[in-house]
Amino acid sequence: MRFATKAIHAGLEPDPATGAIMTPVYLTSTYVQAAPGQHKGYDYSRTNHPTRAALERNLAAIEEGNYGLAFASGMAAEATILQLLKSGDHLVCCQDLYGGTYRLMTQVFPRFNVETTFVDATRLEAVREAIRPSTRLMWLESPSNPMLRVCDIAGIAALAHEKGIKVVVDNTFATPCLQRPLNLGGDLVVHSTTKYLGGHSDVIGGAIIVNDAALHDELRFLQNAVGAVPGPLDCFLVLRGIKTLAVRMRQHCENALRLAEFLSGHPEVIRVFYPGLPASADHALARQQMSAFGGMVSAELRGGEERSIRFASRTKIFALAESLGGVESLVGHPLTMTHAAIPAEQRQKAGLPAALIRFSVGLEDIADLIEDVEQAMAASR
Ligand SMILES: *Cc1c(COP(=O)(O)O)cnc(C)c1O
Repeated sequence: MRFATKAIHAGLEPDPATGAIMTPVYLTSTYVQAAPGQHKGYDYSRTNHPTRAALERNLAAIEEGNYGLAFASGMAAEATILQLLKSGDHLVCCQDLYGGTYRLMTQVFPRFNVETTFVDATRLEAVREAIRPSTRLMWLESPSNPMLRVCDIAGIAALAHEKGIKVVVDNTFATPCLQRPLNLGGDLVVHSTTKYLGGHSDVIGGAIIVNDAALHDELRFLQNAVGAVPGPLDCFLVLRGIKTLAVRMRQHCENALRLAEFLSGHPEVIRVFYPGLPASADHALARQQMSAFGGMVSAELRGGEERSIRFASRTKIFALAESLGGVESLVGHPLTMTHAAIPAEQRQKAGLPAALIRFSVGLEDIADLIEDVEQAMAASR
């Protein structure tokens, strides 16, 4: 089956009890047993429930992995991966990344003596140099947040595997519609399903997809033992979102490219960050490992941080909000919003401009979106 077909059908079957075509939502915490341990596959909803099981099968299929696991949020999924580690373990992580991931790695896991080194993952040499004997995980975002940099997943995976290091790829921005990291050598794919997979800004969720059975067993144990799990309605909403992922991503990509081209030709824009632009330093690599370039665009505006903040407050269709990947367009100022948890020194190291604006380009008519950006440029001068 091809992607769009899998997104709609994989892992799903009509409800055996009623024939309902949509996956049922059983709002129950527990399941009655005939005798202790004798049940129809479900005993307690933290451990599993039918809607989650369907979502997990579907997630595995669309990422072309063997196993999917659903979580209550992207952060819950990430924390569960880090719980695979033990005191003294080390990880290497790309330096341009989601602020919440940075916070988890610098403010939570160091309490358990798990340390992270942040590197420019677009440079293979920098990644190699950061590896220590205690390195267990390599953590990548591609395209990254908010600079939309692309790293060589296959190249980094080859390097990591030589040293027995597992590779985690946060595939939230690309989605499996555009990029399948397990096929590029990644060992774990992690998602905030809150974003494109859910797609309608109405649910918080996370996911992990893996191929290795032993790794799956460990994660499955942690999922139940720690319990950062999603309820049936949340799983239903993510499943419903995934059904339209292919058609949504096509339009997100088309609109984003149009906006990126418009911004590139704008006299008040210093730099545009979008791997789909032929002028982008990452364009060739992006073409190799992605089938299209996604719906996120960042741009550095003239006039510094203050002007950018003014701009983000003056758009009318682009709503000023955290998050991304929904049908509606959003705009944000990463420095003071999504990436506020990253200290100034680290932001400078990562080259994050103070005047950077991040657009989550939605599915509205692109002519309206461009007009909106144009009027906000004028209103923020
Ligand atoms: C939003 C996001 C997360 C965190 O996911 P939540 O669902 O908000 O917990 C992780 N990684 C990336 C790239 C994100 O955009």
